[in-house]
Amino acid sequence: LSDFLVGYRDPLFGLIVFFALVFIISFFSYWWAIYKAREQDSRLRHFFHRFEYQEHRLPHPFQEPSSHRALLILADAFAKSGDYEAAIAIYLQLQEHRELQGRLEILLRLADLYRRAGFLERSCQIYEEILGLFPRHRKALRSLLYVYERLGDFEGALDVLESLEELGEGGRERGYIEALIATRRGDSDRLEELYRAGLARRTALEPLFRLDLPRLWRILREEDVLLVADLLWYLPKEQISTHFSLLRELYGAKGYLEGVKGSSIFELDLLLHYPKADLEFLYLCQGCKRRFPLPFGRCLACGAVEEMVVEMVVTRRRREASFTF
Ligand SMILES: [Zn+2]
Repeated sequence: LSDFLVGYRDPLFGLIVFFALVFIISFFSYWWAIYKAREQDSRLRHFFHRFEYQEHRLPHPFQEPSSHRALLILADAFAKSGDYEAAIAIYLQLQEHRELQGRLEILLRLADLYRRAGFLERSCQIYEEILGLFPRHRKALRSLLYVYERLGDFEGALDVLESLEELGEGGRERGYIEALIATRRGDSDRLEELYRAGLARRTALEPLFRLDLPRLWRILREEDVLLVADLLWYLPKEQISTHFSLLRELYGAKGYLEGVKGSSIFELDLLLHYPKADLEFLYLCQGCKRRFPLPFGRCLACGAVEEMVVEMVVTRRRREASFTF
């Protein structure tokens, strides 16, 4: 013992004892932490095991018609809340286990979902498969028409439209799609033809602002001025024409023309008397009465074509940037 005490007085020995103690303490705290973590892990495992046990006692979800329904409702809810991935996963599982009619219903929902999620080619394949089985399926035909249109396959859209017209649907859509085809070809003769025949209005006029403005001024009817009021409003001063009184009122309100006294259009009249005001535009669909901030050929909400009305909104004129000091 005396040797030990003698050794203890040795500073090097004291240092060794100190580090030994530090090591022992840290070893125990490390071991304790691991023990606690293991204990928590096994408690959680037990907790989840209770649910696993219950789940194993449930019937297999695809053997029970009522749970088909439940899964469908769940998938629809996912789809509505925008969780397309989850909804698609459920539809994909469901569609393998059903008879033809139920399969058709699920395929339709799946295709609609792919369409909304932006997987146009995939939705197109499913609609085509449905139409292979049921060539006169209205809903599939209509949806396929939208998809072809969004893919820019206007010729394909015309083919589908033909089947819809045989079923008594279509209306203004032929003129609308033909105007889209003429626009892509830059065929202003055809656009004029469609406009003059009353087969397309805004869809035929809009591209002419870009393709052939003199032709636009030549063919534009006064009753259609308001239909393209936004496009007319944003034309630069040197490109305008004022051969209708409504055009003079519009450009008077814009500040391009002097001496215009008033207008029968309330918004233009207001601007003529109050030059601090400006115009902005909203786009109303007459089909579903919804308003959009951007113009459209086919309504994004209800799918109607050539139903857009341009609404004028009077706003405060934004102060132009000036560098006066
Ligand atoms: Zn609409």
